[in-house]
Parts: sequence; C-alpha cells; structure tokens
Amino acid sequence: MSGAEEKRVEAEIADGEREKRVEAEIRGREREKRAGAEIAGGPGEMGLYIHIPFCRSRCHYCDFPSTAGLPRAEQLRYKEALLWEWAAYRRPWPAPVRTLYVGGGTPTYLAEDILTAILTAVLAGLDEFSPPGAGGASRGLGRERQDKLSPLGAAGLTEFTVEANPGAVTAAKLASLRRLGCDRLSLGAQSFDDRYLAWLGRGHRAADFFQAWRLAREAGFAALNLDLIYGLPGQSPDHWKRTLLTALGLAPEHISLYQLSVEAGTVLGARAAAGEQCGAAEEVCRQQYLLAHQSLTDAGFVHYEISNYARPGSESRHNTLYWRNG
Ligand code: SF4
Repeated sequence: MSGAEEKRVEAEIADGEREKRVEAEIRGREREKRAGAEIAGGPGEMGLYIHIPFCRSRCHYCDFPSTAGLPRAEQLRYKEALLWEWAAYRRPWPAPVRTLYVGGGTPTYLAEDILTAILTAVLAGLDEFSPPGAGGASRGLGRERQDKLSPLGAAGLTEFTVEANPGAVTAAKLASLRRLGCDRLSLGAQSFDDRYLAWLGRGHRAADFFQAWRLAREAGFAALNLDLIYGLPGQSPDHWKRTLLTALGLAPEHISLYQLSVEAGTVLGARAAAGEQCGAAEEVCRQQYLLAHQSLTDAGFVHYEISNYARPGSESRHNTLYWRNG
C-alpha cells in the first residue's frame, strides 16, 4: 500500500470512529431523555396548542392541515369558531396551563387584528380558567420573564410561542405579539438557498428570512427558533455545512432540524411518482444529520429532543412538556 493510500485508509478509520462517537453520544442523550433527566416543566402543568390552519401558499412538501390564501371573511369565520370552542372550556381546569404554542399553518398569515383578537381572548381565558391558587395574569411567571413582558402579562405562562413565516411578518405584527406577552418566535428558514426555497415551494426567499429575523430581534424577541430542512436532493456536504454555519451565524437560541419527507398528496409526492428524484439517499441524510449534530453541539447547543437543539436554558418548555404528557 502506498503512503497516500495508507493516509486515506487512516482518515477513513478516523472518520468512522468519529461517527461512532457521535452516534454513541446521541444514543446516550436519548437514554437521558427517557429517564426524564432534562425534561423541563413539572408534573401537574399543562400546555395549550392553538392551530391556525392558514398559509399564504402551499409548500410543495407540506401535508399539514392548512389552507392557502383564505380571504379575510374566512379568517373571521375561523376566529368566531375558535372562540366559540374556547368558551366551551370555561370551567376550572385540573392544572394550570404554563405554555402556549400557536402553530400552523402560519399564524402570522392572519390579519393582525384577527390574530390579536384570538390571542387576547385566549389569554383572558387562561386567567379565568386557571385553578385557584395557580396564578392568573403574570402570577405564575418568573420575575425575569415577567420583566420582559408587557403590562398585559401572559396569563400565568412560562412560555408563549408563535410560529411565523418570513414572508408573513411585519414590524407591526411582531410588536403586537410582543404587547400580548409573546416571548418566543419560531421562524421557518428551511434553507438559505433561493434555488432550494423555490423547489420546496416556499413563499419566501433567503433575503426575506434575514429581514424577518432582524425585525424579530428589533421587536425584542430574545428567544428565536429557526427551522431547517435536510435531505434535499443534490445537496453536497459543503452546501449543508454552509447552511449550518449561516444558521449559527444568526446566533439563534434554538434550531429545529427536519429531514425532508415526500408524502402522497403533495406536489413532491406527485413529482416523485412521476420519477423525479425528490430527496436524498438514506446514507446522505444520515451523514447530514451527524454533521449537524456535531456542528451544533460543538457550538454549545444541547440536543434535548429528537429534532431540536437549544442553547442551555433555551429548550422549548412546550416541547418538553409533551414528553411529560402535559
Ligand atoms: S408554511 Fe408550513 S404549514 Fe404552510 S404550507 Fe408551508 S410547510 Fe405547510
């Protein structure tokens, strides 16, 4: 064997060992999670999820319950239906709701006055329905968290998240969310490459994402999440590495990673059925996942849940509450 070949073999062995170490580390963290070692949120607490099933347009991979381009009149009908259902819960609950997560769909697609009306009613209900002694408006919040919130407070919450899409946020909407006590925003980046964003059918481009991120910081959001998708067809290791470095360069508190899945009934599903290559091979996805894990943990992130990484102390309380059946 020549010297060059020996070096190549040694490098391959070193790579293999590094992968094994990363995989062992991931398995270790899964064991810790099962033992409840890092699960925040105490027993006897509940989290509330509100679904806003509207988006500006439909992403090519999406099979979530969501409708694109619904006009204002339909948004108002949804608001009425949602608040009617909310009123049906008007009775003392067995445990206090400590986390509120507004997801979708794209909650920020709703007109600002409609979203505000929904959230105001939900927050008032949280005050009213909390069990006696559990804390109403702001009473359950830690001092540090209370100080960051508006006078309206957040109904005994320890975390209040809203999902947003880059093409659907404005400074006015973000300021309105802050006034309501929202302290955590989750933004769907998915990729920073406009070619992939177009292929995925996303309604935004990279510049929109950077603008939304800046607006969110300017609005005072100190807890920001960004979503990324891996397993894109033809994505080289270098491209994925640059994506991760760009994400880290934004100094997020939280990063969610999702492997692209091609589902029946979606645009990608139809393309795949017609023979287009719509994803990456399993081994490529595995390598991308391992690279992400290594990059994010090297940067100080904690892998606290299957798809989720956070700076220590910035783990989503709502996510972790689910693991305790909250
Ligand atoms: S923004 Fe989210 S919910 Fe809406 S279509 Fe795209 S992936 Fe689906």
